[in-house]
Amino acid sequence: MKLEDAKLLAALAGLDVELRSGVSLASLTSLGIGGTTDLLRLRRHETIPEVVRLLDEQGIAHRFLGGGSNLLVRDGELPWVVLQLARAEQEVRIEGNIVEVDAAADLGRTVTYCAKNNLGGMEGLIGVPGTVGGALRMNAGAYGMQIGSYVREVTVYRAASRRIETLRGEQISFEYRHTSFAPDDMMLAVKLELPSKPFREILDGIRICNEKRRSSQPLNQKSAGCIFKNPPGASAGRMIDELGLKGHAVGGARVSERHANFFVNAGNATSADMLALIADVRERVRAAYGFELENEVVIWNE
Ligand SMILES: Cc1cc2nc3c(=O)[nH]c(=O)nc-3n(C[C@H](O)[C@H](O)[C@H](O)COP(=O)(O)OP(=O)(O)OC[C@H]3O[C@@H](n4cnc5c(N)ncnc54)[C@H](O)[C@@H]3O)c2cc1C
Repeated sequence: MKLEDAKLLAALAGLDVELRSGVSLASLTSLGIGGTTDLLRLRRHETIPEVVRLLDEQGIAHRFLGGGSNLLVRDGELPWVVLQLARAEQEVRIEGNIVEVDAAADLGRTVTYCAKNNLGGMEGLIGVPGTVGGALRMNAGAYGMQIGSYVREVTVYRAASRRIETLRGEQISFEYRHTSFAPDDMMLAVKLELPSKPFREILDGIRICNEKRRSSQPLNQKSAGCIFKNPPGASAGRMIDELGLKGHAVGGARVSERHANFFVNAGNATSADMLALIADVRERVRAAYGFELENEVVIWNE
């Protein structure tokens, strides 16, 4: 979608919004798949209600983009614009065991920064690409931990009230790769409470998690991490592997040889290739095991 209305463009510029026209989402997502649209980079959180209001007024749909590491985006000219938070100058502030982080901050860098300040707990998240906002939305986790366990407060633009609100951790439910935020809520900042730990100890934990990832995941290929959630008591990757589907492909989309729940863009995969592969594997798992696999990857197909 191309924004052309001069009044709208002037109003957005007045709100300090940076407009990048005709951006390819293939270049902004880890899968390397996706069509083109206009990208609005928001430099000031407080302008979000007004930016969304202006877009709504003109019937322009929008999506929120973090680091693009959990997204499968359709091809072609996209019928919505993308909003993304620009990175703040000071992204992380620490006071005792409380860490206040901007949602646009890089997750991995945040984990390391906390580690250097002797705050641990998030070692498992090292190697999870993307932003802190995306991790909150997805309740990202690995190796037995999830970010939601450490959340004390989230500052969020709430679509229902059209205002920026601060929610306490107890007001939000964080489940396995799912949170109680509405789809149109935008995370702006979070306060985490992290346990004190010596830097050396955290570093050892980080090394172990890094090693596990390196030995089991196709880190040099384009992917969005796990495609499916694990059903209760079962492993999606193990089932796909047992069905002999590693290497199974549709066009340029392929089940990784390394990790059967990672689907990679092995060449010029289209969104249709990836969607067909997902549907095919889901059907085979359903037929063999009776599990209806749920997507972990977020699909922007409309
Ligand atoms: C190699 C690899 C390994 C991975 N390993 C793991 C893992 O171990 N554990 C795990 O949980 N995930 C993993 N992932 C998936 C992904 O990295 C996480 O889900 C990550 O937290 C997504 O963050 P993001 O900023 O990239 O979000 P995006 O992909 O940009 O967006 C994902 C969703 O969050 C929404 N969103 C993003 N930012 C905001 C915001 N500020 N406010 C509101 N909504 C927002 C988007 O609208 C979208 O619905 C992996 C991915 C890759 C490529």
